[in-house]
Formats: sequence, C-alpha cells, structure tokens
Amino acid sequence: MKTPDAIAVGAFLDDRHVELAARIADFSAREIALLPEPADDGAGRAQARRILELLGREGWFAPIRDQDLRACCLIREALAAASPLADAVFALQALGSLPIVLAGSADLKQRWLPAVQAGRAMASFAMTEPEAGSDIAALATTARHDGGGPDYILRGTKTLISNAGIADFYTVFASTDASLGAKGISCFVVPAETPGLRFVGPQVLSAPHPLGEITFTDCRVPAAYRLGEEGEGYRLGLATLDRLRATVAAAACGMAARALEEALAHALSRRQFGKPLAEFQLVQQKLAGMAIDLTAARLLVYRAAWESDRGAARVTLEAAMAKAFATEAAQRIVDAGVQVLGGRGLLASHPLDRLYRSVRALRIYEGTTEIQHLIVAGQLLRAAKAAGSNP
Ligand SMILES: Cc1cc2nc3c(=O)[nH]c(=O)nc-3n(C[C@H](O)[C@H](O)[C@H](O)COP(=O)(O)OP(=O)(O)OC[C@H]3O[C@@H](n4cnc5c(N)ncnc54)[C@H](O)[C@@H]3O)c2cc1C
Repeated sequence: MKTPDAIAVGAFLDDRHVELAARIADFSAREIALLPEPADDGAGRAQARRILELLGREGWFAPIRDQDLRACCLIREALAAASPLADAVFALQALGSLPIVLAGSADLKQRWLPAVQAGRAMASFAMTEPEAGSDIAALATTARHDGGGPDYILRGTKTLISNAGIADFYTVFASTDASLGAKGISCFVVPAETPGLRFVGPQVLSAPHPLGEITFTDCRVPAAYRLGEEGEGYRLGLATLDRLRATVAAAACGMAARALEEALAHALSRRQFGKPLAEFQLVQQKLAGMAIDLTAARLLVYRAAWESDRGAARVTLEAAMAKAFATEAAQRIVDAGVQVLGGRGLLASHPLDRLYRSVRALRIYEGTTEIQHLIVAGQLLRAAKAAGSNP
C-alpha cells in the first residue's frame, strides 16, 4: 500500500500490519506480478496450484488461522494488485478453512489446518447450487444418515465453485433436515477423493479463475467430518462470509489501486495535443475521482477489519458496507483507468485489461451488491425499530 492511502487507513493498523504491508508488497512484486497470465483454463488451474505452494511456503496463510483480518485484507490487496488469480487462491484458502478454524473438532483441525497453512492442501467452499444462489437457505443438497448409522450420505450438485476439480477438500453445506429450512443445514469437510464426489467439469470465466461444478452421488461422509452440531451449518456459513467479506472489499481496493497506478503513470508519460495527458483537466478529474473512491473504500474496509480484530461479535453492517462500496467503486475505478489508457488499456496483454475482466466477479461472489444493500438496510431498520423510532 502506498501513501497517501497508508496514512488514511493508518489509524486502523498496528505497527505489525504496516510492516506486513511492506513485506507483502515486496513479495508480490518479486514473485507474483511477473507470472504470465495463463493461456487457458487448464494453465490457470496449474498456476493456481503453484501459487498455493508459493504462498504456503512463505507463510502467507498464517493470518487466516490467527483470524487477523487486517492482515488478510492487506495480503489480498497486494495479491489482487499483482494477480487476481493469486488473490483468488488466498481467498479460497480462507473461505474453505475458516469454518474448520471456527467449528472443527481437534482431529479435523489437526488433519487439515497445518496442510492448509503450508499450501499442501487446497481448500474449497461449496455452498452455491443451481437453484440456490443468493437464497442459500433454498439449497437442495441433502446429507442423510444411512440406515440409522452414524455416517451421512450426501446427494446433490454444487455449481460456480472456486477450486472445483483442483481442491484437496470441500467445505460443503447440505441439508440434514429439510423441514427445518435454514436451521436444518449442516456443514461437512469432504476430502476430494471421497467416492461419490465427482468433478463434473470447469465453468470458464473470461479472467483466469478455477471454477466448476461438483456432484455428490451417494457420497458417504463420516459424522466426524461434520463441523459443529447438526443444523449449525447455515450460521457457520454466514459467520464465515461475515468475517471474510471485508477481505473481498480489500481485493477490490488492490485492483483499483493498480488501475490508478497505471493510469497515473500513463497520464504523465503519454503526450497528445503537444502535452502530457496529465495536464488536461478532464483527465485530472478522472484521476481525482479514482483516488477519492479508492480512499473511501479503504477506510470502509479497514474500519470493518479493525472492528472484527478488536473482538466485535458481528461485523455484518460494517462488512456489507465495505463490500458493497469497494467492489462497486473498484469497477468504476478500473473502468476509468481503461479510459485514461485509451486503446492500449484494452489490449489483452495489458494489466488493465486483466483487471477489467477480473474486477466484475467481486460484485457478485460472496453476496451480490444487492444482497449487501439488503443487509445494510435490514440492520438499519432493526436498529431503528429497537430504538422505537417507528411511527
Ligand atoms: C467468480 C465466482 C466465484 C464463485 N465462487 C464460489 C465458491 O467458491 N463457492 C460458492 O458456494 N459459490 C461461489 N460463487 C457463486 C456466488 O456466490 C453466486 O454467484 C452468488 O451468491 C449469486 O448467486 P447467483 O449467481 O445464483 O445469482 P442469483 O441469486 O440468481 O441473483 C441474480 C441477480 O438477482 C439479484 N437478487 C437475488 N435475490 C435478490 C433479492 N432478494 N433482492 C434483490 N435482488 C436480488 C442478485 O443480486 C443478482 O443481481 C462464485 C461466483 C463467481 C462469479
């Protein structure tokens, strides 16, 4: 993170975060930024596994286990600026393993967390289904006891799942009692090699991101692989999303910061009508708008992460505000960056084009912007009602 933004969010950071921000920026520039954009989905999947090992070897997954949200945000910012694929690798390692950190038995923690942290095991978070996107409580995957025995039999389909096909385990949400709706959803850790779990195939995006569909056909899962009690899965899923939502917003800031950096450099070096673009006030207006949006987004991000790190029971409101604003702002900023670059910004080889293709997904995954707005309004209205301000 570069000044003046480091100063803007400094109030929310400890000294160790400032030091970490410098280290991850240096690591990203040396090890991540130079990675070529994968030529196709297969190459993207292979690169994701290599990035996993690299991040694990260098210890970058430790803040996930430690639930140091500000560190996770700083790491995602730096990775996203260098490579949106590297950011996705970090994001999924967090999303797939945090439920184990929060609710796993000692055995499950021992089996998976050291491997996750070292980059030897790739995590995945399998919630979305063909008929259950924003409306997660509608999920149709079932986990039923087999003839009264302790094992569960999983049946169903999960779609739009990051790391599908390359993950070592899936954190899966399934209904153990459909009559209870959301309260009947449970969460399981399912190793990728479990018989009955099948990778159907990739779902290819315009930006490198390993995505795909998996199915469960009579997939037997021991009761010991359940996270928390039966029926606690929905709450665990929401708590995980709640905690990590600010990090999605941080990734958006990373992409936006890179776009601003590229736009500033181009505005200073490119000459038209006899002078640098930077001297035209219409270009300056764009640069200023980008910077204002970015700083506002970062303030929301690090405010939410700081609240979480200092022990707030929930950061639902703060995280939803951060995600809604930062991801929408990042889209505007990257778009403005392309405009400042002109035609060169649209060349597939240019970093801005990759950002343009990558930033779009952030407004959709882990809760769309519309869902964040509903969360914010819901929190406001609940507080207003509790305060007795309804007429
Ligand atoms: C790159 C990428 C990676 C992903 N990775 C994962 C993953 O690893 N694991 C996983 O489980 N899922 C993953 N997803 C899925 C993602 O979480 C869903 O796409 C998201 O939750 C939205 O669901 P949907 O696509 O079914 O859209 P829908 O829920 O069908 O929504 C479509 C549109 O309707 C709007 N809408 C829906 N309900 C309302 C409402 N009540 N009020 C107003 N508007 C509404 C939405 O905001 C959206 O604009 C990923 C998606 C993408 C794009």
